[in-house]
Amino acid sequence: MIDSDTHSGIAERYLDFAQQPGYLQLCAIRKQAEAASLSDPFFKCHDGWVGATTTIDGRQYINYASYNYLALSHDERVISAAKESIDRYGTSVGASRSVSGERPVHGELETALACYHGTEDALVFVSGHATNVSTIGYLLGPGDLLIHDKYIHNSSLMGAKLSGARRMSFPHNNLEALEALLKAQRHHYKRALIVVEGLYSMDGDISDIRGLIALKQRYQCWLMVDEAHSLGVLGANGGGLQEHAQIDATDVDIWMGTLSKSLASSGGYIAGVKALVDSLRYFSPGFLYSVGMSPQVAAPALEALRIMQAEPERVHKLHAISQYFLERAKALGFDVGTCTGNAIIPVIIGNSMQAIAISHKMFELGINVQPILHPAVPEQSARLRFFLSCEHTQAQVDETLNKLFTILQGTSFTHPV
Ligand code: PMP
Repeated sequence: MIDSDTHSGIAERYLDFAQQPGYLQLCAIRKQAEAASLSDPFFKCHDGWVGATTTIDGRQYINYASYNYLALSHDERVISAAKESIDRYGTSVGASRSVSGERPVHGELETALACYHGTEDALVFVSGHATNVSTIGYLLGPGDLLIHDKYIHNSSLMGAKLSGARRMSFPHNNLEALEALLKAQRHHYKRALIVVEGLYSMDGDISDIRGLIALKQRYQCWLMVDEAHSLGVLGANGGGLQEHAQIDATDVDIWMGTLSKSLASSGGYIAGVKALVDSLRYFSPGFLYSVGMSPQVAAPALEALRIMQAEPERVHKLHAISQYFLERAKALGFDVGTCTGNAIIPVIIGNSMQAIAISHKMFELGINVQPILHPAVPEQSARLRFFLSCEHTQAQVDETLNKLFTILQGTSFTHPV
């Protein structure tokens, strides 16, 4: 029986949005921040395009808060591709592609993505998040098993929820624990899907893909790799985890990626064998019941992919500046966790309020870097997360780390050690 404090039977707190747990939590955090004179670090409004630098409220900042890893979202050729596609196709495809939304640029992009991965086919979705939700949600069902790295992105968790499959996690990058789980659990289920990321977005470390392939073969599972952050970042020429680890495309059953990071647009995709991609094209809810990708979203992603492959020096520069950042950060004694120095570099600070405070001070000093707070990461490992782009310079990195060092020295926080 639901508790009630009205005559009509339903308590007011079940009707009032302001009394819902999430909103109450948000209010409590805001109150705490206000008491510490800290402004909201989220939803900052940028005046123009955003790369290694940005302008906010008329002031220029060194920027580490964008996934624009290859600096292509403000490349003139990418911008022109978007404009030309609008001139040709208009701004919307107006309906689901299965009904009336297909345009040539969709097929061209999908062919290019399949080619990039070396798979038979690929399918683009209007959102990266929806790609995972819809793919996992469609492929698995009750009686199936989803096993994922503990640090997997929310979109895969939501897919698992939608599917009704049993969900289990293994400690981050711990393949011994994964094997123990598979040994004990695999035979209880029909299909089993292991989901990992190529490059982890909170820690900047990489999956042991060869070990994962061996396990998925031994225990007869599907393996899905979310390449949201590894596309264009890992591998000598940006070929992702596949190039980084020198594996075959067919060693992984489901390649997932986003268009919103190195590819300078928005949306997501699945690449794999024809039977997989065709099934998703006809049945996955986030594709079938959603509008087709707008031309001005598909065309710049296609152009960015072309440029990325034609100009590997962008990837090389990204590698070099990321390694420089990591080495300098370590030399200054910062806690960078298990980061491997590939575009994403966390500096672990402590609790959430401390991370907000340091981010705030950095902003005052002209550096835009976001705090990552609990529950996105464990409470005592709240952090600043630096996203590097190939346009960052050593001088910018030096300035940033020296300012961070000065701030941390002047506080009671534990780092630098
Ligand atoms: N997968 C991972 C690993 C992500 O980090 C994200 C978000 N950055 C997504 C999927 C969702 O992608 P999008 O933001 O393009 O919807």
